[in-house]
Amino acid sequence: MSSIYIHIPFCIQKCLYCDFPSFAAKEALYIDYTQALITEIQKKSLLCQSQTIDTIFFGGGTPTVLPAFLLENIINTVFQYYTVSKSAEITIEANPGTLSDSLLSSLHTMGFNRISIGLQAWQDSLLKEIGRIHNRYAFLQSFFAARKAGFENISIDVMFALPGQSFSQWQETLYSIMALQPEHISAYSLILEEGTPLFDMWQKNQLSLPDEALDRAMYHFAQQILSKNQYQQYEISNFAKKGFESRHNQVYWKTLPYLGFGLGAHSFWENKRFHNTYDIKKYIQCKGNPSLLTEETELLTSAQLQSEFLFMGLRMTKGISAAEFEKRFGIPLHCVYKKQLSFLIEQNLLQKQNDCYFLTPRGMDVSNTVFCQFL
Ligand code: SF4
Repeated sequence: MSSIYIHIPFCIQKCLYCDFPSFAAKEALYIDYTQALITEIQKKSLLCQSQTIDTIFFGGGTPTVLPAFLLENIINTVFQYYTVSKSAEITIEANPGTLSDSLLSSLHTMGFNRISIGLQAWQDSLLKEIGRIHNRYAFLQSFFAARKAGFENISIDVMFALPGQSFSQWQETLYSIMALQPEHISAYSLILEEGTPLFDMWQKNQLSLPDEALDRAMYHFAQQILSKNQYQQYEISNFAKKGFESRHNQVYWKTLPYLGFGLGAHSFWENKRFHNTYDIKKYIQCKGNPSLLTEETELLTSAQLQSEFLFMGLRMTKGISAAEFEKRFGIPLHCVYKKQLSFLIEQNLLQKQNDCYFLTPRGMDVSNTVFCQFL
């Protein structure tokens, strides 16, 4: 089983915290970009002759800024050139303000069976503060329209530790989205990325951010309230009703193979990591020719693969299995990482149950420190 990621690098406007490869006001490139993308998808199918595709993810950017006919051309190319499992999970990321009833209905007809809607915050004042294009009303319209169009698997993205966000605003965000009963919720802490307007404001002391204690209190509240309301935490930032865990994201955390198409898209294939150019002009000029648009191919050594298995797998609440490690790498886990595992267990950052290792609640709070042990 394998997976496909498709990157659509266009947005209506750039959010103030965003450092993803995405551009606003580039409508003039939509058709040329889609043509290059389709050719890339066709050409790379040679890599994937004997594999069945189990998950497809359209991410961005905001894929739903593209007109329906372009999205349809892209997804149909995937169906035509790859063997897609009948039960494949096919997700599209979307932002309120870009979703009409007719687009949602077309997406459902095209085969998308999961939609991930970026809300980020319930309060219009916070949405404005971080440069989102929509308000809460537009989100609600999109959510109900998605349900009406037939989407039975909806994920909502929210963020905490936003500038000026209070604990009660975060509580209100979580209570309000739980009332809608989406199948999946992603809750991320705001990370200030260098080069973004919010980062510049922070450097100039123009931003009031929640401190570390409030950030953790918000995270712990999300863990508690979501698990009390049927949303099982299955990864550091992801919660789902039973059976609705994102299959696509688990591909990344389990270090399984995937092919990425589009600007800056990353792939992990036959133990190689590679990514496409981040230069949109170059991407279009390469006309989908993989040898021209691929950059930085790295064949991972066994040690690197083992290390990724650990630090990606430990993101999941069920952790990693020693038996699975041995099956994949032909060497017992304790022969490679005995020292690190014992140290982390002693520090109450890691726990062992049967043959599985997973983060303790404390380990989840300082997960990056834990992952460093395996780098
Ligand atoms: S909508 Fe998403 S990708 Fe687009 S600018 Fe905002 S955060 Fe970035």
